[in-house]
Amino acid sequence: METKRIYVDPENKTSLCDGNSLEDAVREGAELLCQGEVVAFPTETVYGLGADALNERACARIFAIKGRPADNPLIVHVTSIREAKKIVKEWPDEAEICAREFWPGPLTLVLPKNKIVPDIVSGNLQTVAVRMPSHPVALALIAMAGCPVAAPSANISGKPSPTEGKHVWQDFQDKIPLLIDAGKCIVGLESTVLDLSGEIPIILRPGGVTLEQLAKVLGRVEIDKGAKGKSEVLSQPRSPGMKYRHYAPKGEIQLISGQSQEKVEELGRRLEGEKSNKRVALICLEETVASLTAEALGKIDLLFTLGTREKPREAASRLFEALRICDEEDIEIILAEDMPEEGIGLAFMNRLKKAVGKGNLKKTEKI
Ligand code: AMP
Ligand code: MG
Repeated sequence: METKRIYVDPENKTSLCDGNSLEDAVREGAELLCQGEVVAFPTETVYGLGADALNERACARIFAIKGRPADNPLIVHVTSIREAKKIVKEWPDEAEICAREFWPGPLTLVLPKNKIVPDIVSGNLQTVAVRMPSHPVALALIAMAGCPVAAPSANISGKPSPTEGKHVWQDFQDKIPLLIDAGKCIVGLESTVLDLSGEIPIILRPGGVTLEQLAKVLGRVEIDKGAKGKSEVLSQPRSPGMKYRHYAPKGEIQLISGQSQEKVEELGRRLEGEKSNKRVALICLEETVASLTAEALGKIDLLFTLGTREKPREAASRLFEALRICDEEDIEIILAEDMPEEGIGLAFMNRLKKAVGKGNLKKTEKI
């Protein structure tokens, strides 16, 4: 199947190069969704691979195309609180508070599911995950399709999530009928998944909305241990997706942690010891690059600067892009600087630790 790629500029309401308007792209996408097809589209977090959430066969296609394990459920995307209520059995006060405060935006709520939602969407769980995205293309597409849209990240299962249209193209060219390409995603990390189906709200996956922001409006919020990347709890996860190795580039990631000066020294040592012919990348902050010696820098095949420590959200939004470039450049060893696990740093570290994979966490295991 040939994939049509329509470039859109959500700001201008016109496409970037092929003469189609944003409305044309959205209409084409909506028609495909209504026919039970799968469409890749931008959200503010990462690109999604969407299908009509109430169409079991369409959702089965998502799993097949991604190679996603059947017990890893999908997030259902809606355009209003009213629509969210249609797919859940209960809408507790906490859901109303969170939706009013953070929707549209990068927060997914897990609630008891209404039976109209096919079991395939929820991975056979009795709960469903729902979110209202803020990206204008995502909102227009869902509204025009007139159905809730189930969409996981638009990457081959296990690979780093797509934060640009070209990442989706790399993974799914000729596997889906349409990619709506609106350039880079602003948040660049997936949504926060908050479980509201029990007594206490629990963060199953940290993301664009932080623990601190949630605690402010909800009071009590807990974080599932698995969400912090602790390997021992991965066998019995509360969120099915937590047990899989995720976001992984081909190369081996080595985390660099400690205070600023310790990191610079550690990097110097690692690069010193790097006598093999392996291709090495360094993913780090500007401040760290500035402290490295020319000799150390000379040993790096690929340097990816995430940005300044002063702007952690921007830095976090570039992580997946960095991991994807490492793959394009056939990098074998990726030295990656850590971030403090607060604010957006919690989500950043969760992704980085999962990309490292199980059993390789000891160096940074300090939580
Ligand atoms: P993705 O869209 O690929 O980023 O993955 C969606 C994430 O939401 C996965 O980690 C799922 O495990 C999680 N999720 C979706 N539905 C549920 C649910 N009903 N209960 C718990 N976690 C869920
Ligand atoms: Mg994903």
